[in-house]
Amino acid sequence: MTATTQSIQALSAVEWELIIVGAGTAGMPCAIEAAKSGLKRILVIEKSQNVGGTLHWTVAHMSAGGTQLQKARGIEDSPEEHYNDIMRISACSANPELTRLATEEAPSTIAWLQSLGFPFDACCPTLVYGHAPYTRARTYFANVQRGGIVLLSLLLPEWERYIRCGAITLLLGCTLTDILACDGCVYGVKVHDGSAVQEHYARHVVLATGGYAANPSFFARVTPYAPPLYSAANPTSQGEGIEAALRIGAQFHGAEKHNVSLGGIELIPNSQRVDIWSAWAMVSTSAYRTTRELYVNEEGKRFLNEDEVNADIRERAVMRQPRWQFWVLFDEYALHQSYAEHQPLVRQWITVAMVKQHAALGTYLRCAESIEKLAAMCGIHVRHCVETVQRFNTNIHGIPDEFGRTTFPAPLHQAPFYALRINACALISFGGLAVNTRFQVLDIKNKPIQGLYAIGEILGAAATSGHAFCSGMLVTPALSFGRMLGKQMQENIACTIPRRRSVQIPTLSLRA
Ligand SMILES: Cc1cc2nc3c(=O)[nH]c(=O)nc-3n(C[C@H](O)[C@H](O)[C@H](O)COP(=O)(O)OP(=O)(O)OC[C@H]3O[C@@H](n4cnc5c(N)ncnc54)[C@H](O)[C@@H]3O)c2cc1C
Repeated sequence: MTATTQSIQALSAVEWELIIVGAGTAGMPCAIEAAKSGLKRILVIEKSQNVGGTLHWTVAHMSAGGTQLQKARGIEDSPEEHYNDIMRISACSANPELTRLATEEAPSTIAWLQSLGFPFDACCPTLVYGHAPYTRARTYFANVQRGGIVLLSLLLPEWERYIRCGAITLLLGCTLTDILACDGCVYGVKVHDGSAVQEHYARHVVLATGGYAANPSFFARVTPYAPPLYSAANPTSQGEGIEAALRIGAQFHGAEKHNVSLGGIELIPNSQRVDIWSAWAMVSTSAYRTTRELYVNEEGKRFLNEDEVNADIRERAVMRQPRWQFWVLFDEYALHQSYAEHQPLVRQWITVAMVKQHAALGTYLRCAESIEKLAAMCGIHVRHCVETVQRFNTNIHGIPDEFGRTTFPAPLHQAPFYALRINACALISFGGLAVNTRFQVLDIKNKPIQGLYAIGEILGAAATSGHAFCSGMLVTPALSFGRMLGKQMQENIACTIPRRRSVQIPTLSLRA
């Protein structure tokens, strides 16, 4: 049998109304809304053994302008102002159509979460200074640290209800390997369940497989100028959905807008992994703590005002350093003072004793009796490092230094001295599939690939955040776009043009 006859046969054997690949932040609400709108045969394919995807990892800050929660607090805002702020922060590098769509839909996403009983923190909506702040208080998060897990717990009751009634069929442990397409139309997917390859057929396939921020080789391919990847992303973010779409002619863009996150500590040597829940260094903004430290690169030189409040400026400064890495230098006095002020450098290291335990391991955190010895241990240029500290110690009178730093709480001169290695790391990926405002995946000529849709981080963070980090502009669009696409699938299916030929075939797709 030729490939073409196989494809034609498959088209006639469509079994599912809709296939969604990826049961995470975007995929789950998409499936729920599609089921709610009346679809009865939805297949969800998920490579993990559980659902939720990055919801198990994310902080889940969300953002929306023009919500009831803002009105109740007397905050005047609108989707338009939210949109303008994103364009300002990203210097217009976000996709205007998708950002417009995301900001317009965001208030109803927040209202939906409210209706589900989402436990918003009492301070929300609020301004967040992790990155360049918005001009209005429009960030929302849960009153617990792991907001993504709360979100997941709110999605699960409806999700399970639709599974129980058979509208959603879930295949866990199945990895998408290929998208089946013929003459520019999608007709199903090929998956691997760990032991065998299966094919599943549908004329509408949604890719919600997340980004590629946990895949060093994919990252290196699309960001060739970058040093090796340090990843804090969900390990399932391997870019497989993107790869499969590229093989059938989809358009990929935005990877050059990559931006890094700061505070990455490689706890397991040579793992290139960072876990923000185990060790996250508070180098992200001095809005939250007194900066007592000094940052040096491997040349032993400073490269930034450590007290710079704009995280985007800090992150870009680190991207100009070799290996996108630097050391935070501090002394015994700074260490004790940070704890006296309840401002630890690493969030999760909650006592001085814990810091000393980590230093005793001598990997990511080093400790020595002199700056010379410390620099030598870390592979930092010794003479430059000593000179850098000396210069800092003599300039503590509030006169702006060469980097514009004006806060000099104390000199670094009380032994022992410490150096914490920080790697810029990726929580998210910026490149992704090009889609139109109906979430149809576009080919390289900007033509929709019939039957193929994409939502969530697979679109790339750059879609709704440009080359910057705009607060909440991944989780919120993932939820919003997931819901929007789910609601519109019924209509998409009704508009599907019937195939001209239909061939009877003996084997149908494997049903779960
Ligand atoms: C630590 C951390 C903190 C973050 N904090 C924030 C924040 O505060 N605010 C914000 O807006 N964003 C934040 N983000 C980003 C945001 O959480 C993600 O962009 C978003 O959750 C991704 O949603 P998604 O549905 O695209 O992907 P996911 O939620 O990852 O879902 C993708 C699903 O697809 C599955 N999958 C992948 N490949 C395949 C395959 N080949 N076959 C089958 N299934 C597959 C995965 O297993 C997964 O379940 C954070 C990210 C991280 C890692």
